[in-house]
Amino acid sequence: MTIDQYHVNKSDKLRGVCYDIRGPVLREAHRLEDEGHRVIKLNIGNPAPFGFEAPEELLQDVISNLPDSTGYCHSKGLFPARKAVMQYTQTKGIEGVTVDDVIIGNGVSELIVMSMQALLNSGDEVLLPAPDYPLWTAAVRMSGGTPVHYLCDEQQDWQPSLEDIRAKVNKNTKALVIINPNNPTGANYEPAMLQELLQIARENNLIVFADEIYDKILYDGEVHTSIASMADDLLFITFNGLSKNYRAAGFRAGWMVISGAKHRAESYIEGLDMLASMRLCANVPSQHAIQTALGGYQSIGDLVLPTGRLGRQRDLAWEMLDSIPGVSCVKPKSALYLFPKLDPKVFPFEDDEAFALDLLREEKVLIVQGTAFNWPNPDHFRVVFLPRVDDLEDSIGRIARYLDRVRKK
Ligand code: PLP
Repeated sequence: MTIDQYHVNKSDKLRGVCYDIRGPVLREAHRLEDEGHRVIKLNIGNPAPFGFEAPEELLQDVISNLPDSTGYCHSKGLFPARKAVMQYTQTKGIEGVTVDDVIIGNGVSELIVMSMQALLNSGDEVLLPAPDYPLWTAAVRMSGGTPVHYLCDEQQDWQPSLEDIRAKVNKNTKALVIINPNNPTGANYEPAMLQELLQIARENNLIVFADEIYDKILYDGEVHTSIASMADDLLFITFNGLSKNYRAAGFRAGWMVISGAKHRAESYIEGLDMLASMRLCANVPSQHAIQTALGGYQSIGDLVLPTGRLGRQRDLAWEMLDSIPGVSCVKPKSALYLFPKLDPKVFPFEDDEAFALDLLREEKVLIVQGTAFNWPNPDHFRVVFLPRVDDLEDSIGRIARYLDRVRKK
């Protein structure tokens, strides 16, 4: 072989794996910024750059414990952090969780991948929502499984379509993933819906994975119910962390909690323990913030009030988007995102990545196309309402201006 034939390719395992929230459109935004343009970024749910500060006491805990955090810790995490997570599960009504059932990770992201790697064999199917947070789909594929998407119904406030789930579940289905509260739709599922999902899981012997990372970002007095609090005859893995509720995404601190039918999952839990051990442990300094975060005053509660910063920004962004002719948007009940629909009769886009790129180049506004969330049609996009009111007015005004130009006359 000569040096001309020397090529380094990505592995076959990555075939079909994608994470388009940070894909080609973001790369184009960086290129425009390098050229000196100011791009308004409505693309990523990262609160800190928009002036949402993490609670001061979290920072103080990390700072004061830093000198004692230079060594590895237990692979599952620091005891006080895991104990605090365990106590949090008690406040959410999840029964029977011990400190040993909690694994701390470098963000929920690491744990999602770990939970799929430990579970899936080739041919195993996992039911995931469409739209979804795309790391879930990527993690299933990368772990050798097959993602199968069930539709969430926009006409029903983006609740999961039980009919679609029932049509897609089969003997190869291993697990049901629910993202509740949901990114990107902002849906928050009622107990009656969770009960129906449980019934399907029970009838088909599924494991339930519940990503609840937005469980405190609730508007209009919404209440969150953890699906794991509603049954103990199935295995539940519940995910949460500091990135959103506590505006500390850069800390990379998340956790997963194993509950329910643990006695029927010894082998899977052994696999999880092994994967946790192989990566030695999660980032130690950040773990010192977990106990304080979960136990202290929950300042996120102020931000989501109608008069709070997030509450005001959600209302403004939703009103502006929903009033653009040809655009409709379900008002989010939770989380940080809007997922508006472009009427295909008015905007007959065939490729929504091309739409996102064109909008970016023409108006310097960065959104994420709906298909990046495994939504099947090129007729949605996601907007993050973290920027301040002035920037939201400016950027959504630009989106409206752009859509006015490309609207079918
Ligand atoms: N799950 C959902 C639904 C998310 O929206 C995100 C981040 O946006 C994550 C998980 C990843 O969280 P972490 O920062 O804890 O890795």
